[in-house]
Amino acid sequence: MKKILKITALILAAALAAASLNACAGNGESATKTSDGAAETKQKLIMATNAYFPPYEFYDDSGNIIGIDAEIAELIADKLDMELVIEDMEFDSILSAITSGKADMGMAGMTVTEERLKSVDFSVSYATGKQVIIVKSDSQITSFDGLTDKTIGVQLMTTGDTYILEDIESGNLGNAKLSQYASGFEAIGDLVNGRIDAVVIDNEPAKVFVSKNEGIKILPTEYVVEDYAIAFAKGSSLTSKVNAALEELIADGSVKNVVDKYITA
Ligand code: GLN
Repeated sequence: MKKILKITALILAAALAAASLNACAGNGESATKTSDGAAETKQKLIMATNAYFPPYEFYDDSGNIIGIDAEIAELIADKLDMELVIEDMEFDSILSAITSGKADMGMAGMTVTEERLKSVDFSVSYATGKQVIIVKSDSQITSFDGLTDKTIGVQLMTTGDTYILEDIESGNLGNAKLSQYASGFEAIGDLVNGRIDAVVIDNEPAKVFVSKNEGIKILPTEYVVEDYAIAFAKGSSLTSKVNAALEELIADGSVKNVVDKYITA
């Protein structure tokens, strides 16, 4: 704790020194520098995500989190003159990070659902997702009904998890079993190894997983269509600001540009 305080004090001292140097120069350019120097004191916008969900959020080769959500969040932070900080966590921890105030917003290809609306607020939607079914290329399963009596992998606490569980509980899938994974990546691993028969996951990550793994395919049936939005703690003062910024970015085509960069039609 002490160490952190010391470092903060050092940074502050350095910032003050830089600011006073700039101030001494006393021309227009240095004024700009001063405000640039002050960038370090920008208010943070902490985004909670699970960075194993390409193309929405994933690590690049240098260990930075990139993707559609990361870039849209960066544009929002710029508009609000805030500094974006991305916190990577398990998908099922994101909502509690928001409601407990550890994060300002959740952006994780997150679907708006009635259940989630009980604990968080959502921005306007910025993308559409579809739950799809991935099977082995030589699988006998050709449609949703083919999942009957099979073992189905999902990501814990995602909508795919919820829907399959509902279908199993209501008897739509015979004796099908649910296999829950911390990430889609692990579910795909077990599908490839033959431990499970199918994976239900969002379509865009599904495409990425299928392109990176031999011997699996997406069934040409959509299971459920959904809206992605940004989640906030109920009553957060950021909700309306972020929402306004997002609406501008949708209106001026910036969101579409980001999406087109990562998803080729
Ligand atoms: N869209 C799904 C959901 O909100 C999955 C999101 C994810 O795994 N990042 O539950």
